[in-house]
Amino acid sequence: MNVDEKLAILADAAKYDASCASSGATRRDSRGGRGVGSAGGAGICHSYAPDGRCISLLKILLTNRCLYDCHYCINRRSSNVRRAGFTAEEAIDLTLDFYKRNYIEGLFLSSGIVRSADHTMEQVVRVARTLREEHDFRGYIHLKTIPEASSELIAQAARYADRISINLELPSQRGLDRLAPEKNLNRTQAAMGRIRDRLDEATERRKGGDRKLRHATGQSTQVIVGADASTDADFLGRADELYRGYKLRRVYYSAFSPIPEPSSLLPLAAPPLVREHRLYQADWLLRHYGFRVPEILPPDAPNLDLALDPKLAWALRNRHEFPLNVQTASRGQLLRVPGLGVRNVERLLSIRRQTWVRLEDLARLRVSLPKVRPFLITVDHHPARELLDSDRLRARLVRQPEQLDLF
Ligand code: SF4
Repeated sequence: MNVDEKLAILADAAKYDASCASSGATRRDSRGGRGVGSAGGAGICHSYAPDGRCISLLKILLTNRCLYDCHYCINRRSSNVRRAGFTAEEAIDLTLDFYKRNYIEGLFLSSGIVRSADHTMEQVVRVARTLREEHDFRGYIHLKTIPEASSELIAQAARYADRISINLELPSQRGLDRLAPEKNLNRTQAAMGRIRDRLDEATERRKGGDRKLRHATGQSTQVIVGADASTDADFLGRADELYRGYKLRRVYYSAFSPIPEPSSLLPLAAPPLVREHRLYQADWLLRHYGFRVPEILPPDAPNLDLALDPKLAWALRNRHEFPLNVQTASRGQLLRVPGLGVRNVERLLSIRRQTWVRLEDLARLRVSLPKVRPFLITVDHHPARELLDSDRLRARLVRQPEQLDLF
């Protein structure tokens, strides 16, 4: 098999991994020689670097052979897919080749597990080490690590990569036992803990003046939504634990998509994509808005309301907290007003130091007035209590489906 054929197989196999926030980058069906512009077939996708820049990455697996049999994975041992594998040298040459031609700014490298976790991790690390040390590669590198690999190999991966990740896949051991019997939640979290310690050490060294230190700056993970019976509370509870205890930068929620020749343990249909979207919104509330999981998902409602964004759903359940006076409410309170984002809250805090805030100030900040009006008091607006308590408020705030312009 030549490198092009391997690339087609191993780039396609890597596309199911969402933990580098990537887009598929398939443009107007220009694959197969019809037109120009498609980068997806060659494994090039767009992702976001730790500093927020959008970058093009070569996203590949080193091999799609695997000893494990995770039911949701197209590369599982029992799957009947075409197998291929790059040698470390081929992956290095491909990366350098694409980089020099300006196709990519970095590499996302993952792998199925062959021979053993350590053997596979050694190959992955070898690619990154050779790129950095022998070719002085300064591009972005994201390495997927294997929790069963030795701590020393994971530490080496962190040394050569900008970002590393370990996929949790499912939020409970019960789910893993059923769908990924070789995986163990405690082992994965222990590996994340060791990575966190290394990242902390690197941060301390940088603070101590070691400016030249090259080391990953964060770790992330991916979970698959809708492959088992896990509730949104299970996903968010686990994510919250990872953010607080393991300092993860991101948890990526990837809606399960049916794969060819699926296992009989998997659901036949994918979950609605809006579930993935609502989980991202709720995750954002945990990380940036000071919410706790039980506030977003009370024990009697373990799944998010798909019709409402989670902050609005919280506000409707807690109407006694509103309306808030924009002039006197604390930052934390304002962050809980539906329709007010972090940036607008900062701007409002600055405006109110100098003047009385009016509705037109909110409009100028492009705040959605229909959304905030029931919850906020301004100098020229005082919402009627009846509106806030009305049974019809929810119906008024749920966005109705619209017929888009046909022309
Ligand atoms: S270990 Fe990774 S590549 Fe192997 S079957 Fe499981 S998810 Fe797929």
